[in-house]
Amino acid sequence: MNRPAEPDDPPVAAVIDCIDCGGRCHLVSRPDETGRFWPGEIVIYRCEDCADRWDLVVPGDDGELDPSDIW
Ligand SMILES: [Zn+2]
Repeated sequence: MNRPAEPDDPPVAAVIDCIDCGGRCHLVSRPDETGRFWPGEIVIYRCEDCADRWDLVVPGDDGELDPSDIW
């Protein structure tokens, strides 16, 4: 997991594993007009098996919008 950080490589996967059932969760959120997701942005996934919704924060160095980084 030592990939170089490519600016054109968004840290948002199109599909993730469902934490509940292990199924496939598809990205529902759309990128902005630049076609990218930004650090601190909330992206939404929906599981195709159990229909659970998962909200994830886009990771990144710029954490000013990430509440978990506030101390
Ligand atoms: Zn699921």
